[in-house]
Amino acid sequence: MNLVPTRIELARPLPPLTYLAPEGLPAGVRVRVKLRNGAAVGLVLGLDPSPPEVKLRPIESIVDPFPLLPPKLWELLAFAADYYAVGVAHLLPLCLPQVLVPDWEIEADQGLRLSAMRDQGRWRELAELGQAWHRGEETLRGLLHRRDRRGAGLTEVRRTELPNPMKVTTTQAKALLALEEAGGALLESELRDSFGVGAAVLKTLESKGLIQRTRRLDLLSQRREEGLDHRVILNEEQLAAIAAVDTSRFGVHLLYGVTGSGKTEVYLEVAERVLKQGKRVLWLVPEIGLTPRLLARLEARFPGRVAVGHAGLNATEKQADVVRLLQDEAPIFVGVRNAVLAPLRNIGLIVVDEEQEGSYKSEEHPRIHARDLAIKRAQIENCPVLLGSATPSQESWHAAQQGRYKLLKLTQRPVGINLPEVQVVDLRDAYREARKRVVFSKPLLAGISESLERGEQAMLLLNRRGFENFWMCRACGKPLDCPHCAVSLTYHKSSYRLRCHLCGFEAVPPEVCPHCAAAHLRGVGEGTEQIEDQLQALFPKARILRLDRDTTSRKGSLEAGLLAAEHGQVDILVGTQMLAKGHNFPKLTLVGILNADQGLRIPDFRAAERTFQLLTQVAGRAGRAQRPGRVILQTYSPDHPAIAFAIRQDFEGFAEQELKYREALAYPPFTALALYRSEGETLDEAKRVLDAHKARLAVVPGLRLLGPLEAPVSKVRDRYRMHLLVKARQRSGISSALATAPLEPGGPVALDRDPLQFGN
Ligand code: ADP
Ligand code: ZN
Repeated sequence: MNLVPTRIELARPLPPLTYLAPEGLPAGVRVRVKLRNGAAVGLVLGLDPSPPEVKLRPIESIVDPFPLLPPKLWELLAFAADYYAVGVAHLLPLCLPQVLVPDWEIEADQGLRLSAMRDQGRWRELAELGQAWHRGEETLRGLLHRRDRRGAGLTEVRRTELPNPMKVTTTQAKALLALEEAGGALLESELRDSFGVGAAVLKTLESKGLIQRTRRLDLLSQRREEGLDHRVILNEEQLAAIAAVDTSRFGVHLLYGVTGSGKTEVYLEVAERVLKQGKRVLWLVPEIGLTPRLLARLEARFPGRVAVGHAGLNATEKQADVVRLLQDEAPIFVGVRNAVLAPLRNIGLIVVDEEQEGSYKSEEHPRIHARDLAIKRAQIENCPVLLGSATPSQESWHAAQQGRYKLLKLTQRPVGINLPEVQVVDLRDAYREARKRVVFSKPLLAGISESLERGEQAMLLLNRRGFENFWMCRACGKPLDCPHCAVSLTYHKSSYRLRCHLCGFEAVPPEVCPHCAAAHLRGVGEGTEQIEDQLQALFPKARILRLDRDTTSRKGSLEAGLLAAEHGQVDILVGTQMLAKGHNFPKLTLVGILNADQGLRIPDFRAAERTFQLLTQVAGRAGRAQRPGRVILQTYSPDHPAIAFAIRQDFEGFAEQELKYREALAYPPFTALALYRSEGETLDEAKRVLDAHKARLAVVPGLRLLGPLEAPVSKVRDRYRMHLLVKARQRSGISSALATAPLEPGGPVALDRDPLQFGN
């Protein structure tokens, strides 16, 4: 066999390396190579036209018999690697979570790993099968049948009967609630890993006839809620939106309509049309844990045809779903951010629900934006993409205004829910009257009492967890800061600890000030933990549930809490913005926003946009109940546009004003941004590398270079952080910056293209 110099990229921060490999090895096949410090899996990029003049080592073995990723996905990966200036191999783990990385090794031991040098006959056979698969003439069943057998070992738990609540223990109830939330069925491993329900509990439940356990590969086929597949009679706006989507070619559509206006019905209709054409649907959601209802609706409409990229699944289960994708068995794939790179072929529609959500952007390497890649993917696949939102991002809205995206509007709420009445409480007046800072205004307290009396629910939001925001010394005026980060510590009463929300540092609160030794330490600014305490004192009989990152750190506890609230077991919900999203509390009639201005003080040009989105979303919660809802919004700045427009639920008015501001200050969508970040032992060290990079960027025409400046949080985990912000008129300006001044893979400067977070 002829061995030729071949470029191979490793999933490590290194430039591609050159090895000797069999001639004709296709790009995209994974191979195993030896490094100085161990072995690694790498990806064949192709022939090396100018190999280094050293003795090249041969590869160790070939991992895949043929490239596993569909060619069009390769095209997307090449684009993304270029756009975000990362190696393709860094994106691969996002495409095939468990199959691709060393996990395949398990199969290798069973004889599936092939060395072309050792076992040529079988290699050729598989390579031919692979080609046939790529031509769409063959499924992967033959190749992957071993996995099927392993997948069949999955045990699914299904609820059979409604329990008598008095006859079950708390753990048993937890299991049953989890099942109900999931639409009736879950995997045994999910119950164990996410809800802490062990085999013993399930056995007891089974003996009581409350559940049934079956083994299956088809993970979701049982997640059907009876009666969910009620076909609605679409209204004219919905029909017009559906008709406007040409499923035969690329086009970006912005589906804009308030929560409950019927956007999901539009996605479902277009999806059905695409499935009938024999094509597939890629459906992105911001958070999978909060979409059980969507999954149930999808499963009811397209039974057995939905696969889910679920962060909560374990390796084997994920693998089973990926295998279903590779086998083209599940034509609808639902997932979060990384699902945009799923190995789905023949895509006829991409849905991006809640397109404005920040969770579509990765805040760690590689820093991709799933919505933006979804548009690129649709272009490559030549299919439509539907971006849906009640409060579109300024970027998408602007594109729709310019006619680059097709705007589809839904202005009614088919089920006839009215928008809630919003009452504004000016905290400045409340302060003057009470002669002190007011946490709960009189109208809010009255509202809570009323809702308790009527047996309804109230929800209070404050975007700050912990008991007190920070401690300071009244003698010397200094706050107690984290020793490792440039932020104050937050006091948590239940654990009696001061805690750093960035690095997790914890300390018992000191008796005296560490700076001046005075015994005048005092907490400032209340957090959700204290709100809960104060409420309980004000309303001793109320059942209060707090949901924030502290109370929901255990997997499944958020879902369990939300479920308890949906079932009316909670009178007052207190929490951070995680409460604002996608739930349906039928008894919720009052929402209190304790301090609407909180998010506005953050030094970020998107602060107003985020505040507007949050307030609008929250207000939408109160309107879902049978009875008309009410929102009480406490603020020190009722005239701020983000607040004033949110009160009127006027997105278009807000966007008009916001876009003017963005244009005047040359921010996106009127410019393109790239944020270069560096870290160092000292600020100086971090600054030096950015200064050097800035000098290289100085030759690129049309860029504005701002910085280097200390990051807003300039130290995290004892590492100092600096930022260099680059503005260009268009995205192509940033691309030429990357071409002229490329970044060293694994070097000291990291790139965040189209950044969303500037905080740390
Ligand atoms: P969105 O995705 O905009 O929040 P949904 O599609 O989930 O809205 O619709 C909200 C509710 O209204 C759902 O229960 C849905 O079944 C129902 N619905 C949607 N369109 C119609 C319609 N044309 N007629 C009756 N009910 C509808
Ligand atoms: Zn810290």
